[in-house]
Amino acid sequence: MQVILANPRGFCAGVERAIAIVERALQKFGAPIYVRHEVVHNKFVCDDLRAKGAVFIEELNEVPSGSTVIFSAHGVSKAVRDEAETRGLKVFDATCPLVTKVHVEVGKMRHQAREVVMIGHKGHPEVEGTMGQSKDGMYLVETADDVRRLKVNSPDQLSFVTQTTLSVDDASVVIDALRAQFPEVQGPKKDDICYATQNRQDAVKALTEQCDMLIVVGSPNSSNSRRLKEVALARGVDAYLVDGPEEISADWLLGKSRVGVTAGASAPEILVERVVDRVKLLTGASVEQLAGVEEGVSFPLPKELLAG
Ligand code: SF4
Repeated sequence: MQVILANPRGFCAGVERAIAIVERALQKFGAPIYVRHEVVHNKFVCDDLRAKGAVFIEELNEVPSGSTVIFSAHGVSKAVRDEAETRGLKVFDATCPLVTKVHVEVGKMRHQAREVVMIGHKGHPEVEGTMGQSKDGMYLVETADDVRRLKVNSPDQLSFVTQTTLSVDDASVVIDALRAQFPEVQGPKKDDICYATQNRQDAVKALTEQCDMLIVVGSPNSSNSRRLKEVALARGVDAYLVDGPEEISADWLLGKSRVGVTAGASAPEILVERVVDRVKLLTGASVEQLAGVEEGVSFPLPKELLAG
């Protein structure tokens, strides 16, 4: 039995920054620090931050006056930002800069009186945040069928943006449908899918050429982790999404000789190590790493959290 590790895998620059913001705010201001929504979609990470004094809430009315609140990596709507300001809360924004970039795009498009179609998953906090950059003139679609049913007011003044953590292949199908239905639609060259999502999906595609099963380390509410599992399934490779080693069933490994392991952008390497150890324990497997692109991306922390 061989375990083959995908590269790159696990933490992206946006997740590293978001976690560092919560940790530094805790060090600097002490507990409790309120965090609107799970700062990143990973149970292990959030449990660890909770133990250090982070309090995760879903709505700002759960935050006592005078407290410090952190916006999660997924971003927030303008309404949430305004509410925090009205209430005088001290805010640190852990929105990934690549999500903020999409917010800025939406702002520019609406300023030019263009309507905006967002391609994304309904109910995901990133989608709620991006859709909430404008009070009107925005439409959400998930599939090519949604596009075919879509009625807009200004087809000649239409733009699109995408969620950053979509499946690259699924998004291109929806974008093709959008371009076919609204030939004048304008958008980013390809999509707004971030480098980390793209690289992790490419790494899984390469890995599925060499393995007969894939384990993705990530939480069930992590969009990019779920997409990694789907990429493998679409290529006919059995795939499982696990939060940690205890979820691995020995039955999954029966008859398999090459097991791929990867991790979503919010899953820490320690969990990958524990998953690999569990597979080794169950099967005596040896471990190899696939080569992959070097990312070398990092995002700066807010200045106030750098000092001291
Ligand atoms: Fe940013 Fe992409 Fe990471 Fe999301 S997955 S936090 S958009 S780098």
